[in-house]
Amino acid sequence: MTSWLDDFDTRLAELDAAGLTRRRRVVLPAAPAEASSTRLIVDGEILLAFCSNDYLGLAGHPALVDALCAGAREFGVGSGASPLVSGHSAANASLERELAAFVGLPRALYFYAGYGTNIGIVPALVGAGDALHSDALNHACLIDGARLARASIHRYAHADLDALDAALAARPARRQLVITDAVFSMDGDVADLRALLALCERHDALLLIDDAHGFGVLGPQGRGALAAAGLTGTNASRRVLYMATLGKALGVAGAFVAGNDVLIEWLLQKTRSYIFATAAPAALAQSLRASLRLVEADDWRRTHLQALIARLKRGLAGLPWTLTDSPTPIQPLIIGGNREALAVMEGLRERGLWVPAIRPPTVPEGSARLRITLSAAHRDEDVDRLTGALHDIARRA
Ligand SMILES: *Cc1c(COP(=O)(O)O)cnc(C)c1O
Repeated sequence: MTSWLDDFDTRLAELDAAGLTRRRRVVLPAAPAEASSTRLIVDGEILLAFCSNDYLGLAGHPALVDALCAGAREFGVGSGASPLVSGHSAANASLERELAAFVGLPRALYFYAGYGTNIGIVPALVGAGDALHSDALNHACLIDGARLARASIHRYAHADLDALDAALAARPARRQLVITDAVFSMDGDVADLRALLALCERHDALLLIDDAHGFGVLGPQGRGALAAAGLTGTNASRRVLYMATLGKALGVAGAFVAGNDVLIEWLLQKTRSYIFATAAPAALAQSLRASLRLVEADDWRRTHLQALIARLKRGLAGLPWTLTDSPTPIQPLIIGGNREALAVMEGLRERGLWVPAIRPPTVPEGSARLRITLSAAHRDEDVDRLTGALHDIARRA
Protein backbone atom coordinates (compact mmCIF):
# COMPACT_ATOMS: atom_id res chain seq x y z
CA MET A 1 0.00 0.00 0.00
CA THR A 2 1.32 3.43 -0.82
CA SER A 3 1.21 6.16 1.78
CA TRP A 4 0.07 9.70 1.16
CA LEU A 5 3.41 10.74 2.60
CA ASP A 6 4.96 9.61 -0.68
CA ASP A 7 2.97 12.32 -2.48
CA PHE A 8 5.17 15.07 -1.08
CA ASP A 9 7.97 14.00 -3.42
CA THR A 10 5.65 14.20 -6.41
CA ARG A 11 4.22 17.51 -5.30
CA LEU A 12 7.68 19.03 -4.90
CA ALA A 13 8.52 17.83 -8.41
CA GLU A 14 5.32 19.48 -9.69
CA LEU A 15 6.32 22.78 -8.09
CA ASP A 16 9.71 22.50 -9.72
CA ALA A 17 8.22 21.72 -13.13
CA ALA A 18 5.99 24.81 -12.86
CA GLY A 19 9.04 26.97 -12.09
CA LEU A 20 7.59 27.80 -8.67
CA THR A 21 10.25 26.37 -6.39
CA ARG A 22 11.52 29.00 -3.98
CA ARG A 23 15.19 29.05 -3.05
CA ARG A 24 16.93 30.44 -0.03
CA ARG A 25 20.38 31.91 -0.53
CA VAL A 26 22.89 31.76 2.25
CA VAL A 27 24.25 35.26 2.73
CA LEU A 28 27.13 36.82 4.59
CA PRO A 29 27.61 40.56 5.08
CA ALA A 30 30.43 41.71 2.80
CA ALA A 31 31.24 44.99 4.45
CA PRO A 32 31.36 46.15 8.05
CA ALA A 33 28.02 45.51 9.68
CA GLU A 34 26.80 49.02 8.97
CA ALA A 35 26.46 48.35 5.25
CA SER A 36 25.35 44.75 5.59
CA SER A 37 22.05 45.24 3.83
CA THR A 38 23.58 46.54 0.61
CA ARG A 39 26.64 44.33 0.11
CA LEU A 40 26.22 40.61 0.58
CA ILE A 41 28.43 37.62 -0.15
CA VAL A 42 26.46 34.91 -1.96
CA ASP A 43 28.24 31.74 -3.10
CA GLY A 44 31.57 33.46 -2.50
CA GLU A 45 30.72 36.46 -4.67
CA ILE A 46 30.06 40.01 -3.44
CA LEU A 47 26.73 41.33 -4.72
CA LEU A 48 25.40 44.85 -4.54
CA ALA A 49 21.92 44.15 -3.16
CA PHE A 50 18.62 45.98 -3.61
CA CYS A 51 16.56 43.40 -1.72
CA SER A 52 16.35 44.34 1.90
CA ASN A 53 13.74 46.28 3.85
CA ASP A 54 16.45 47.84 6.02
CA TYR A 55 15.33 51.19 4.59
CA LEU A 56 17.38 53.41 6.89
CA GLY A 57 20.48 51.19 6.94
CA LEU A 58 20.22 50.76 10.70
CA ALA A 59 20.33 46.94 10.92
CA GLY A 60 24.06 46.89 11.65
CA HIS A 61 24.43 50.29 13.33
CA PRO A 62 26.92 50.22 16.24
CA ALA A 63 24.46 51.92 18.61
CA LEU A 64 21.94 49.12 18.03
CA VAL A 65 24.59 46.42 18.36
CA ASP A 66 25.88 47.95 21.61
CA ALA A 67 22.36 48.25 23.05
CA LEU A 68 21.65 44.62 22.14
CA CYS A 69 24.83 43.39 23.84
CA ALA A 70 24.32 45.55 26.92
CA GLY A 71 20.68 44.43 27.04
CA ALA A 72 21.70 40.77 26.95
CA ARG A 73 24.19 41.34 29.77
CA GLU A 74 21.58 43.10 31.87
CA PHE A 75 18.48 40.97 31.13
CA GLY A 76 19.88 37.73 29.70
CA VAL A 77 18.95 36.51 26.26
CA GLY A 78 15.57 34.82 26.58
CA SER A 79 12.51 36.40 28.19
CA GLY A 80 11.57 33.07 29.73
CA ALA A 81 7.78 33.36 29.60
CA SER A 82 4.81 34.91 27.88
CA PRO A 83 4.09 38.58 28.64
CA LEU A 84 1.10 37.88 30.88
CA VAL A 85 3.15 35.53 33.02
CA SER A 86 6.64 36.91 33.72
CA GLY A 87 8.05 37.79 30.28
CA HIS A 88 7.09 41.48 30.22
CA SER A 89 10.40 43.11 31.18
CA ALA A 90 11.02 46.72 32.16
CA ALA A 91 12.73 47.13 28.76
CA ASN A 92 9.62 45.95 26.89
CA ALA A 93 7.42 48.24 29.00
CA SER A 94 9.64 51.25 28.27
CA LEU A 95 9.70 50.43 24.57
CA GLU A 96 5.89 50.33 24.48
CA ARG A 97 5.65 53.78 26.08
CA GLU A 98 8.26 55.21 23.71
CA LEU A 99 6.62 53.70 20.63
CA ALA A 100 3.21 55.11 21.62
CA ALA A 101 4.68 58.56 22.22
CA PHE A 102 6.62 58.42 18.95
CA VAL A 103 3.61 57.57 16.78
CA GLY A 104 1.34 59.94 18.71
CA LEU A 105 -1.19 57.41 19.98
CA PRO A 106 -2.18 56.67 23.59
CA ARG A 107 -0.88 53.13 24.06
CA ALA A 108 1.14 50.41 22.30
CA LEU A 109 1.59 46.65 22.59
CA TYR A 110 4.98 45.17 21.57
CA PHE A 111 5.05 41.81 19.71
CA TYR A 112 7.88 39.49 18.66
CA ALA A 113 6.87 39.65 14.95
CA GLY A 114 4.54 41.39 12.52
CA TYR A 115 3.13 38.15 11.20
CA GLY A 116 2.31 37.03 14.72
CA THR A 117 0.67 40.39 15.40
CA ASN A 118 -1.77 40.40 12.50
CA ILE A 119 -2.81 36.76 12.69
CA GLY A 120 -3.68 37.42 16.33
CA ILE A 121 -5.23 40.88 16.48
CA VAL A 122 -7.67 40.48 13.57
CA PRO A 123 -9.43 37.48 15.19
CA ALA A 124 -9.39 39.34 18.53
CA LEU A 125 -11.36 42.21 16.93
CA VAL A 126 -13.99 40.40 14.84
CA GLY A 127 -15.41 36.89 14.67
CA ALA A 128 -18.23 34.78 13.28
CA GLY A 129 -21.17 36.99 12.28
CA ASP A 130 -18.99 40.10 11.85
CA ALA A 131 -17.76 41.62 8.58
CA LEU A 132 -14.22 42.24 7.43
CA HIS A 133 -13.25 44.41 4.44
CA SER A 134 -9.81 43.81 2.97
CA ASP A 135 -7.86 45.53 0.15
CA ALA A 136 -7.04 43.02 -2.60
CA LEU A 137 -3.30 43.74 -2.32
CA ASN A 138 -3.00 43.33 1.45
CA HIS A 139 -0.06 41.45 2.95
CA ALA A 140 -0.42 37.69 3.51
CA CYS A 141 -0.52 38.00 7.30
CA LEU A 142 -3.58 40.30 7.20
CA ILE A 143 -5.25 37.78 4.89
CA ASP A 144 -4.37 34.91 7.22
CA GLY A 145 -5.61 36.89 10.22
CA ALA A 146 -8.87 37.47 8.35
CA ARG A 147 -9.23 33.73 7.68
CA LEU A 148 -8.62 32.88 11.33
CA ALA A 149 -11.24 35.44 12.38
CA ARG A 150 -14.09 33.52 10.70
CA ALA A 151 -15.88 36.78 9.96
CA SER A 152 -17.35 37.17 6.47
CA ILE A 153 -14.61 38.56 4.22
CA HIS A 154 -15.31 41.23 1.58
CA ARG A 155 -12.32 41.83 -0.65
CA TYR A 156 -12.39 45.20 -2.43
CA ALA A 157 -10.34 45.98 -5.54
CA HIS A 158 -7.05 47.66 -4.69
CA ALA A 159 -7.64 51.21 -3.38
CA ASP A 160 -11.22 51.22 -4.72
CA LEU A 161 -12.85 53.41 -2.09
CA ASP A 162 -16.22 53.53 -3.90
CA ALA A 163 -16.42 49.75 -3.76
CA LEU A 164 -15.50 49.82 -0.09
CA ASP A 165 -18.08 52.52 0.61
CA ALA A 166 -20.80 50.43 -1.04
CA ALA A 167 -19.75 47.27 0.80
CA LEU A 168 -19.78 49.06 4.17
CA ALA A 169 -23.10 50.78 3.40
CA ALA A 170 -24.72 47.39 2.77
CA ARG A 171 -24.07 46.75 6.48
CA PRO A 172 -23.49 43.02 6.29
CA ALA A 173 -22.94 43.11 10.07
CA ARG A 174 -23.08 45.48 13.02
CA ARG A 175 -19.35 45.10 13.65
CA GLN A 176 -17.28 45.95 10.58
CA LEU A 177 -13.49 46.02 10.35
CA VAL A 178 -11.48 47.49 7.45
CA ILE A 179 -7.92 46.19 7.09
CA THR A 180 -5.29 47.73 4.84
CA ASP A 181 -1.58 48.01 4.24
CA ALA A 182 -0.49 51.66 4.55
CA VAL A 183 2.31 51.11 2.00
CA PHE A 184 1.59 48.18 -0.31
CA SER A 185 4.55 45.85 -0.14
CA MET A 186 4.80 44.83 -3.81
CA ASP A 187 3.82 48.18 -5.38
CA GLY A 188 5.09 50.80 -2.94
CA ASP A 189 1.98 52.99 -3.20
CA VAL A 190 0.42 54.59 -0.12
CA ALA A 191 -3.20 54.08 0.97
CA ASP A 192 -5.42 57.16 1.34
CA LEU A 193 -5.75 56.88 5.10
CA ARG A 194 -7.84 60.04 5.55
CA ALA A 195 -10.42 58.83 3.06
CA LEU A 196 -10.44 55.35 4.60
CA LEU A 197 -11.02 56.81 8.06
CA ALA A 198 -13.82 59.03 6.74
CA LEU A 199 -15.57 55.94 5.35
CA CYS A 200 -15.10 54.11 8.65
CA GLU A 201 -16.60 57.06 10.51
CA ARG A 202 -19.57 57.23 8.18
CA HIS A 203 -20.32 53.52 8.57
CA ASP A 204 -19.27 52.97 12.20
CA ALA A 205 -16.40 50.68 11.23
CA LEU A 206 -12.97 50.14 12.77
CA LEU A 207 -9.80 50.68 10.70
CA LEU A 208 -6.66 48.54 11.12
CA ILE A 209 -3.61 49.88 9.28
CA ASP A 210 -0.43 47.83 8.67
CA ASP A 211 2.44 50.31 8.22
CA ALA A 212 5.29 47.78 8.00
CA HIS A 213 6.92 49.75 5.18
CA GLY A 214 6.07 53.32 6.18
CA PHE A 215 7.10 53.34 9.84
CA GLY A 216 10.49 55.06 10.18
CA VAL A 217 10.33 56.26 6.57
CA LEU A 218 7.19 58.38 6.12
CA GLY A 219 5.88 61.34 8.12
CA PRO A 220 7.70 63.90 10.26
CA GLN A 221 10.81 62.27 11.81
CA GLY A 222 9.70 58.93 10.40
CA ARG A 223 6.63 58.70 12.64
CA GLY A 224 4.84 56.74 9.91
CA ALA A 225 2.00 56.91 7.41
CA LEU A 226 -0.67 57.77 9.99
CA ALA A 227 1.34 60.77 11.23
CA ALA A 228 2.01 61.74 7.60
CA ALA A 229 -1.77 61.80 7.11
CA GLY A 230 -2.15 64.09 10.14
CA LEU A 231 -4.18 61.52 12.09
CA THR A 232 -2.16 61.24 15.29
CA GLY A 233 -1.74 63.28 18.47
CA THR A 234 -4.73 65.53 19.04
CA ASN A 235 -6.20 64.30 15.73
CA ALA A 236 -6.03 60.62 16.72
CA SER A 237 -9.25 58.69 16.24
CA ARG A 238 -10.45 55.88 18.48
CA ARG A 239 -11.49 54.12 15.26
CA VAL A 240 -7.91 53.50 14.19
CA LEU A 241 -5.50 50.76 15.18
CA TYR A 242 -2.01 51.36 13.86
CA MET A 243 0.29 48.39 13.44
CA ALA A 244 3.90 48.50 12.25
CA THR A 245 6.88 46.17 12.17
CA LEU A 246 10.30 46.72 13.72
CA GLY A 247 12.43 44.50 11.46
CA LYS A 248 12.35 46.86 8.47
CA ALA A 249 13.27 50.55 8.84
CA LEU A 250 13.94 50.07 12.58
CA GLY A 251 16.53 47.44 11.67
CA VAL A 252 15.82 44.94 14.47
CA ALA A 253 12.82 42.57 14.69
CA GLY A 254 9.30 42.55 16.07
CA ALA A 255 6.21 44.70 15.73
CA PHE A 256 3.68 46.71 17.67
CA VAL A 257 0.08 47.79 17.54
CA ALA A 258 -1.00 51.18 18.88
CA GLY A 259 -4.32 52.86 19.50
CA ASN A 260 -6.58 54.05 22.25
CA ASP A 261 -6.38 52.58 25.70
CA VAL A 262 -9.58 50.53 25.55
CA LEU A 263 -8.77 48.81 22.26
CA ILE A 264 -5.20 48.04 23.29
CA GLU A 265 -6.43 46.66 26.62
CA TRP A 266 -8.90 44.47 24.67
CA LEU A 267 -6.09 43.20 22.43
CA LEU A 268 -3.96 42.45 25.49
CA GLN A 269 -6.82 40.36 26.92
CA LYS A 270 -7.84 38.58 23.71
CA THR A 271 -4.93 38.19 21.26
CA ARG A 272 -4.02 34.51 21.36
CA SER A 273 -0.74 35.00 19.47
CA TYR A 274 0.28 37.47 22.19
CA ILE A 275 -0.96 35.59 25.25
CA PHE A 276 0.33 32.15 24.30
CA ALA A 277 3.76 33.10 22.92
CA THR A 278 7.03 33.79 24.71
CA ALA A 279 7.62 37.53 25.06
CA ALA A 280 10.17 39.24 22.82
CA PRO A 281 13.60 39.34 24.49
CA ALA A 282 14.42 42.47 26.51
CA ALA A 283 17.76 42.80 24.71
CA LEU A 284 15.87 43.29 21.43
CA ALA A 285 13.68 45.89 23.11
CA GLN A 286 16.81 47.74 24.27
CA SER A 287 18.20 47.65 20.74
CA LEU A 288 14.88 48.95 19.41
CA ARG A 289 14.91 51.83 21.89
CA ALA A 290 18.35 52.82 20.59
CA SER A 291 17.07 52.54 17.02
CA LEU A 292 14.02 54.67 17.77
CA ARG A 293 16.27 57.48 19.04
CA LEU A 294 18.27 57.43 15.78
CA VAL A 295 15.13 57.28 13.64
CA GLU A 296 13.75 60.32 15.44
CA ALA A 297 16.97 62.35 15.53
CA ASP A 298 18.58 61.70 12.16
CA ASP A 299 16.53 63.18 9.34
CA TRP A 300 19.56 62.91 7.04
CA ARG A 301 18.88 59.21 6.44
CA ARG A 302 15.38 59.96 5.13
CA THR A 303 16.65 62.92 3.10
CA HIS A 304 19.34 60.76 1.49
CA LEU A 305 16.80 57.98 0.84
CA GLN A 306 14.46 60.44 -0.93
CA ALA A 307 17.37 61.66 -3.07
CA LEU A 308 18.17 58.05 -4.01
CA ILE A 309 14.53 57.41 -4.97
CA ALA A 310 14.55 60.47 -7.25
CA ARG A 311 17.91 59.42 -8.74
CA LEU A 312 16.63 55.91 -9.43
CA LYS A 313 13.49 57.22 -11.16
CA ARG A 314 15.56 59.51 -13.39
CA GLY A 315 17.98 56.69 -14.16
CA LEU A 316 15.23 54.25 -15.12
CA ALA A 317 13.54 56.59 -17.59
CA GLY A 318 13.63 55.30 -21.15
CA LEU A 319 13.61 51.59 -20.28
CA PRO A 320 11.05 49.34 -22.01
CA TRP A 321 9.57 48.42 -18.59
CA THR A 322 7.11 50.31 -16.41
CA LEU A 323 8.06 51.99 -13.17
CA THR A 324 5.08 52.60 -10.86
CA ASP A 325 4.76 56.04 -9.33
CA SER A 326 5.67 54.86 -5.84
CA PRO A 327 6.92 57.60 -3.48
CA THR A 328 8.49 55.02 -1.12
CA PRO A 329 11.76 53.04 -1.15
CA ILE A 330 9.83 50.15 -2.76
CA GLN A 331 10.31 50.79 -6.50
CA PRO A 332 8.94 47.91 -8.58
CA LEU A 333 9.90 47.68 -12.22
CA ILE A 334 7.10 45.81 -13.98
CA ILE A 335 8.52 43.43 -16.59
CA GLY A 336 5.38 41.35 -17.36
CA GLY A 337 6.24 37.73 -18.13
CA ASN A 338 7.74 35.40 -15.52
CA ARG A 339 10.59 34.23 -17.73
CA GLU A 340 11.44 37.77 -18.81
CA ALA A 341 11.58 38.96 -15.21
CA LEU A 342 13.85 36.06 -14.29
CA ALA A 343 16.09 36.80 -17.29
CA VAL A 344 16.54 40.43 -16.22
CA MET A 345 17.27 39.30 -12.67
CA GLU A 346 19.87 36.87 -14.04
CA GLY A 347 21.39 39.60 -16.22
CA LEU A 348 21.79 41.79 -13.15
CA ARG A 349 23.26 38.88 -11.23
CA GLU A 350 25.90 38.42 -13.95
CA ARG A 351 26.80 42.06 -13.41
CA GLY A 352 27.19 41.63 -9.64
CA LEU A 353 23.78 43.04 -8.71
CA TRP A 354 20.98 41.39 -6.76
CA VAL A 355 17.38 42.47 -7.25
CA PRO A 356 14.65 39.90 -6.57
CA ALA A 357 12.15 38.96 -9.28
CA ILE A 358 8.62 38.65 -7.86
CA ARG A 359 6.20 36.39 -9.72
CA PRO A 360 2.60 35.25 -9.34
CA PRO A 361 0.95 34.29 -7.07
CA THR A 362 2.68 36.97 -4.98
CA VAL A 363 1.70 39.52 -7.68
CA PRO A 364 -1.08 39.32 -10.32
CA GLU A 365 -0.54 37.19 -13.43
CA GLY A 366 1.33 39.10 -16.17
CA SER A 367 2.84 41.61 -13.76
CA ALA A 368 6.06 39.83 -12.80
CA ARG A 369 8.50 42.45 -11.62
CA LEU A 370 11.82 43.35 -10.17
CA ARG A 371 11.20 44.60 -6.67
CA ILE A 372 13.92 47.19 -6.17
CA THR A 373 14.22 48.40 -2.60
CA LEU A 374 16.47 51.27 -1.66
CA SER A 375 18.20 51.88 1.64
CA ALA A 376 19.86 54.94 3.12
CA ALA A 377 22.94 52.68 3.21
CA HIS A 378 23.08 52.86 -0.61
CA ARG A 379 25.35 55.43 -2.25
CA ASP A 380 24.59 57.46 -5.37
CA GLU A 381 27.07 55.30 -7.33
CA ASP A 382 25.20 52.15 -6.29
CA VAL A 383 22.00 53.44 -7.87
CA ASP A 384 23.90 54.49 -11.00
CA ARG A 385 25.39 51.01 -11.29
CA LEU A 386 21.92 49.48 -11.14
CA THR A 387 20.34 51.80 -13.70
CA GLY A 388 23.37 51.48 -16.01
CA ALA A 389 23.13 47.68 -15.87
CA LEU A 390 19.39 47.73 -16.63
CA HIS A 391 19.91 49.94 -19.69
CA ASP A 392 22.66 47.60 -20.84
CA ILE A 393 20.39 44.56 -20.43
CA ALA A 394 17.52 46.30 -22.26
CA ARG A 395 19.81 47.17 -25.21
CA ARG A 396 20.92 43.56 -25.60
CA ALA A 397 17.44 42.04 -25.24
C1 LIG B 1 7.00 42.23 6.60
C2 LIG B 1 5.56 42.47 6.77
C3 LIG B 1 4.84 41.90 7.82
C4 LIG B 1 5.43 40.84 8.71
O1 LIG B 1 6.26 41.36 9.67
P1 LIG B 1 7.37 40.43 10.33
O2 LIG B 1 7.84 41.20 11.50
O3 LIG B 1 8.41 40.23 9.27
O4 LIG B 1 6.72 39.14 10.72
C5 LIG B 1 3.54 42.29 8.01
N1 LIG B 1 2.93 43.16 7.17
C6 LIG B 1 3.57 43.69 6.11
C7 LIG B 1 2.85 44.63 5.22
C8 LIG B 1 4.89 43.35 5.87
O5 LIG B 1 5.53 43.84 4.82
